[in-house]
Amino acid sequence: MSRDKASKRHKRRATAAASPVAAPRPDPESLEIVLWPDPVLTRRAGDVEKIDSWLLQVIERMKQLMESHEGVGLAAPQVGLPLRLFVMAEKAKADQAIAVINPVLELGSETLEAEEGCLSLPGIRGQVIRAKSVTLTGYDVKGGPVSMPLEDFPARIAQHENDHLDGVLIIARMSPSARIALGKKLRDLEARAG
Ligand code: ZN
Repeated sequence: MSRDKASKRHKRRATAAASPVAAPRPDPESLEIVLWPDPVLTRRAGDVEKIDSWLLQVIERMKQLMESHEGVGLAAPQVGLPLRLFVMAEKAKADQAIAVINPVLELGSETLEAEEGCLSLPGIRGQVIRAKSVTLTGYDVKGGPVSMPLEDFPARIAQHENDHLDGVLIIARMSPSARIALGKKLRDLEARAG
């Protein structure tokens, strides 16, 4: 998720775990941010099955890319890997970022609307309704269980990144009129992808 904030309200609910997928294992240093409309961004990712040195290097690379692109979160599909894993930090700093493996979100009932951007959708911003609070569970880089209550901006980041693992982008969560208003920018991104 790219940096920003705001607020308002509405409603939604949680997502769960996925089926395993045989993922490619490219050199972590070669990973770059993948832009829409790459199909990896709109597919459901599979569970991480083991935490090994390759995965830890991928996580480090994701944190670096997040910081260098001034993002506050990055999900594995955004570097072309269909794995249920994301990194997030409130301040776009790699050394403050946490990684969550096979995350599951439980959403609170109160909702907020705020503007979001996405590192895979450069130039695109729009209002997205999210739960105000969530409980984020999953595994840390050592395989230990994590369970974090999050509110407001961090809760929004976690929901945005978790959406990536389900192949859901912010343009799918915007109102139809907002999507129409973004038509030209989206067509430009498509053209850029060739
Ligand atoms: Zn994003």
